[in-house]
Amino acid sequence: MADHEGHSGTARPEGQGNRANRPTPRWRADPYVRSPRFWIQLGFLLASALTGLHFHRFALSLADPALPQVTRPAEVDAWLPISSFTSLVYLLKSGVANTVHPAGLVLFTLILVMAFAARRGFCSWVCPVGTLSEWAHRLGESLFGRAYALPRLPDALLRAVKYLLLGFFAVMITGMSAEGLHAFIHGAYNRVCDLKMYALFARPSVTTLTVVAVLVALSLAVKNFWCRYLCPYGALLGLVSMASPLAVRRDSRACTGCGRCSRACQNRIDVARVRAVRSPECTACYACVGACPEPDALRLGPAGGRGRLTPFAYAVLTLAALVLLPQAFRALGYWDTDTPVADYRRFFAALSEVGHP
Ligand code: SF4
Ligand code: SF4
Repeated sequence: MADHEGHSGTARPEGQGNRANRPTPRWRADPYVRSPRFWIQLGFLLASALTGLHFHRFALSLADPALPQVTRPAEVDAWLPISSFTSLVYLLKSGVANTVHPAGLVLFTLILVMAFAARRGFCSWVCPVGTLSEWAHRLGESLFGRAYALPRLPDALLRAVKYLLLGFFAVMITGMSAEGLHAFIHGAYNRVCDLKMYALFARPSVTTLTVVAVLVALSLAVKNFWCRYLCPYGALLGLVSMASPLAVRRDSRACTGCGRCSRACQNRIDVARVRAVRSPECTACYACVGACPEPDALRLGPAGGRGRLTPFAYAVLTLAALVLLPQAFRALGYWDTDTPVADYRRFFAALSEVGHP
């Protein structure tokens, strides 16, 4: 069968001669590690780490005028979803694309368009928090020897939390007038919110460390804890993805009802019982498709016919939408902030006076 999440049943022998007799290391036989999704996740995680490092150098150069000024990496805007959401609402209300965090507006809009076109793959293919959360859970499973899942009722109640958070931000932001949004976007708070976030983690307070430690512990024990229960960004993408023409679809003529797809689903969706997965929790991870032993029973594709988007095609689509297209905006000159370095320096100095970073 097609190599969906890399699940081909048996590990292929590598090399020739003596090497052919050597057992394949466990991690290399893991279908997840052999899937395009793993490599795309790894790539975006490394890119995020490099952007973080670059921003750290930018911040250090703000602190010391003797150092050559490092340019701010615009990609850091990807970490400012609330600011980007505000920019998008302002664009829709006023027709003006602001130049305070342009890369944020571009990336946020592309991610929303992608959720509409091809479901919530951002969460399981791109987002570094989603990746770390997934890896934490895998680690937890090997440490504890089992996966924990909350009972249905607390699970449903907790899942509502991310929608409440999303509702709070959506009401606040969409309720503002175009003038109010303009004032917020061009105000000092929004201009240097990246630096504020940096300060939060550069010298974390006891509260920050405690919150992170609790989230890590919960992520080790409960699958995708942050994404499933708390992330308002994921909630928004999930709601948008419900309108997508693509979905995981099950052909009941080819399906034997073995239930492997349901057991493989990271997000507890009972795939074996539905014709099409419409749940906002589906992150297009392909685990169900990869687990299905029947070649024609499960596919991610449009309604009608047998069209399917393979994991490889999904990887190409993701890279085109979130790597190539942003480069076009960069080339067109809509990418870097217009906030003067002097403003960043001023704010950095103010932070240093109160002990951050
Ligand atoms: S339904 Fe399939 S693609 Fe969607 S989250 Fe579950 S396993 Fe992943
Ligand atoms: S894994 Fe495939 S054959 Fe088994 S229940 Fe799911 S769709 Fe049907």
